[in-house]
Amino acid sequence: MGGHRQPDDAGLDHSDPHVDEGVTIEPPATLPVDGKAVASVVGALGQDRFVDDRDVNLLRRCVELAAEALAAGDEPFGSVLVGAEGRVLAEDRNRVAGGDHTRHPEFALARWAADHLTPAERAAATVYTSGEHCPMCAAAHAWVGLGRIVYASSAEQLASWLRALGVPPPPVRMLPIPDVAPGVAVEGPAPGLAEQVRDLHRRFHQPA
Ligand SMILES: [Zn+2]
Repeated sequence: MGGHRQPDDAGLDHSDPHVDEGVTIEPPATLPVDGKAVASVVGALGQDRFVDDRDVNLLRRCVELAAEALAAGDEPFGSVLVGAEGRVLAEDRNRVAGGDHTRHPEFALARWAADHLTPAERAAATVYTSGEHCPMCAAAHAWVGLGRIVYASSAEQLASWLRALGVPPPPVRMLPIPDVAPGVAVEGPAPGLAEQVRDLHRRFHQPA
């Protein structure tokens, strides 16, 4: 694999034939997060850490990807796939604005993992995500044998936020991951980051 490459505006990386559409591989191990965003997230996290600092950094990147989705006119969701040794392998954001509502980042990462990782590598990998996997993505995650999931905000939180915003319920019932994939280790939500995710959803559904 080559060095770090910048994805284009659509998040696609055209320089590597191995890259599936919509999934960017090999972002830098040390993620370039803009100083202001980091400060606000760290401030929001406060004492609420439920995972270690590296987990928080990766969740922060997920929220950043969710913000990128929002900026591109998409629903704000973002996810990162991390290998056993801690290296970021792939990341993606929501891409449903074009009308295909299966284009969730967790689903894209599961398929990327199936194409690029061995079963052992998949089992040892962790998926970080701004919002708890929906049933479709939880199923894909389990079917390809991926490992731990760490999310910033829960499906229950999202459902309550959307209700409060007057958004009609989605066509698929939001279930906790363990109801769909009982063998997957799950951690979340992360209180300070969850509030940031809530703000992104508010901005998507009630643009200023
Ligand atoms: Zn999903």
